[in-house]
Amino acid sequence: MSWMKALASAYQTACERYPDEKLMLVSDIDGTIVDMQFLVKSVLQAYDQAHSTSLFTRLALSDIAVHENHVERLLEHLEIPTADRRKVMDWYLDQRWRDSVILESHRAFPGVLPVIRWFQLQPNTTVGLLTGRPESLRAVTLKSLNNIGDVHNVVFDDDVLIMNPGQWDQDVERVKVNGLRRFREMGFHVFAVIDNEPHILETLSEEAANEDTLLIHADTVFESNRSSMPSTAVSGRDYVLTELVAREDALPEQVQLVWHGVNDPANLQEFIASGVLWAEIDVRADPSGELILRHDSLVTTPALPGEEWLIYEEAMVELVRAGVGIKLDIKGGTEVLDRVLQSVRSLKLPDERLWFNGELRRIGEEDFRRIREAHPSAIVQCPIGWLNPLLVAAPEEARRILELLAEWGVSRFSVDWKHANARAMHRQLAGWGYEVNYYGIIDLEGFLEAVVLLPSSVTSDFNFPQWNYYGRGSGQNADGVAAERVQRKASE
Ligand SMILES: [Mg+2]
Repeated sequence: MSWMKALASAYQTACERYPDEKLMLVSDIDGTIVDMQFLVKSVLQAYDQAHSTSLFTRLALSDIAVHENHVERLLEHLEIPTADRRKVMDWYLDQRWRDSVILESHRAFPGVLPVIRWFQLQPNTTVGLLTGRPESLRAVTLKSLNNIGDVHNVVFDDDVLIMNPGQWDQDVERVKVNGLRRFREMGFHVFAVIDNEPHILETLSEEAANEDTLLIHADTVFESNRSSMPSTAVSGRDYVLTELVAREDALPEQVQLVWHGVNDPANLQEFIASGVLWAEIDVRADPSGELILRHDSLVTTPALPGEEWLIYEEAMVELVRAGVGIKLDIKGGTEVLDRVLQSVRSLKLPDERLWFNGELRRIGEEDFRRIREAHPSAIVQCPIGWLNPLLVAAPEEARRILELLAEWGVSRFSVDWKHANARAMHRQLAGWGYEVNYYGIIDLEGFLEAVVLLPSSVTSDFNFPQWNYYGRGSGQNADGVAAERVQRKASE
């Protein structure tokens, strides 16, 4: 069983066995949450900068296979001239635990913060930290962890951080055993402990066995011998929500889920069978003027042989009958919008089931105002990826533009999940009180990572075979899904 599945099952068991207790996942920090190889690389490259050398210019993370306490082995391996090694080591040892280095050079392993966030979202559940770092680093440890946790909505609290009351490397085993006991004295049932050092897990194994605690080994870079690992420990490397969160787990109810690109008959059937509440359809006019559902224009992306799309009027009848919410992505301009507004009026759809989306280059001020006037409580949305540079460079100017759009009637801003700055954009907009939708989510991992951030909504392809959802995407660029669709049709 994968370590994430083992963790999920330990948590499930704890929820059933200890329903009235506060549950806790205990995690080590260095080599478990924080990637120490990144730290080693940063400090060595800072040496070059401070000494006008270029010993580490080409050093890659993958070159650093040693534990952070054994950098001299790395220098040897890299064939750094012997004369330099001593100087480099002195620098490294002097620098690595400085406040400024901790604040700038600590990076989390991919996926670990979304996993922590997931547990922090669960009722009655806390993530405690248990580290061999000395107490003298308490303030900077919390500050740096909260900095890297920020865009993940992860918060680390002072009162559940247990550190070494002694010096570096002093009695770490005792710190860990006592720490676990202290969490218990604080009233927590610890259902799992994650650490990257096999011998620490060994030290904890008796305590863990007595207290129904799963031992989990983060198989990153570690100092102690793997053979000291207790046989009950589960080991793994990739922090993935897809293995932690099962379909039947409750997703946060406040996040509206939208099935992306319900533009063809097969995707419509998959959507209706899914129980997902919102369908997004791309509305445009074909060359004859008929309203159809297709992501791309037939002019720029001609129809593939055998390609199917839905006729707007027919699809609307089915969606109305299914009782779902309809997110209308207006791919045409004012004329398409007007016909859509007319049609939803004649279908007598309540605002609660209506959502309009349009790019600013297609739908302008007057259009948005008309939508808002006709549907005071509908969701009205526009994508705002174009605003990102301004959000970074001149946030107050960006905010003024958002205020202007809100004044036109836009109530939600849509952020592309694939954008490198997506989480930060969301954080900033939500901080100003705006609703955010994530789109561009193609797989289950991205979906779960987005959902745990609690945006107002998540629009996704729902191509999640792990959960028996087979969404097909919008058919954008006639690639991937569309091509597969044609192949499938040809073979039928
Ligand atoms: Mg560690």
